Amino acid sequence: MGRHKMASGICRLCGQKTLLSFEHVPPRSTFNKNTKYSSIEFEDYLKTENPLKTPPKGKIKQGGIGYNSFCKKCNSFLGTEYVPAYKLWVDCGFHILQNKEFKLHTYTIKNVEPQKILKQIVSMFLAINGEWFLESYPELSNFVASKDSNELHERYKIFYYLTRAENVRYMHHVVQGDFLTGNTIKCSEIAFPPYGYVLTMDSNIQNPYLNNISEFKNLDKRRSLEIRMFQLPTYMPLPLDYRTKEQVEKGI
Ligand SMILES: [Zn+2]
Repeated sequence: MGRHKMASGICRLCGQKTLLSFEHVPPRSTFNKNTKYSSIEFEDYLKTENPLKTPPKGKIKQGGIGYNSFCKKCNSFLGTEYVPAYKLWVDCGFHILQNKEFKLHTYTIKNVEPQKILKQIVSMFLAINGEWFLESYPELSNFVASKDSNELHERYKIFYYLTRAENVRYMHHVVQGDFLTGNTIKCSEIAFPPYGYVLTMDSNIQNPYLNNISEFKNLDKRRSLEIRMFQLPTYMPLPLDYRTKEQVEKGI
């Protein structure tokens, strides 16, 4: 954590205005310790005469992807309560990940703690979204902050899929039209190998490849779990876009 600075702001879990520590998303212990990623400042784009011809080189950052989103206390609460359960879940995902897209995987995980996993996933959505998110959707932080709570309002649904995350995806809250149904979808999405997650608010999505895991909220005991999930590609920085590379190239 040493090389990550603190920043002041509102903790996305307890709501206090204080110094926020760097939260790895996903947790540092789930293969996000040394993730390298490049970040290009918007000003560097403006300074470059022709950004398309000679794109500015981003500063390569190391030490994992994350956000200054939780106070120290909440950060360590998550680390103690949910991260160990989440790590086991991630290890299992890596075991079954294959070099194949749109494959349906079915398997059993033993000794898994679904409710804790779900709380960790929700905390990741709190971490990547802005401060306003906490105020607009208070039930989410309540669900995470109280470790025995199984109360997560039905307006929220959480889906998952297996993915190699060809491009990692950190989509903040977006509102999107669903071409198939004409409905509006409010969602946020995170994809980092081996899993992708979609959180929807007050929305109905119909996608046969996404598995709804909102019911994990009621599974508060250690148990065996039958899993069914599709492996999906994430080439484009768009929520709910699982086109193959060929489809994307054709689209362009
Ligand atoms: Zn806090």
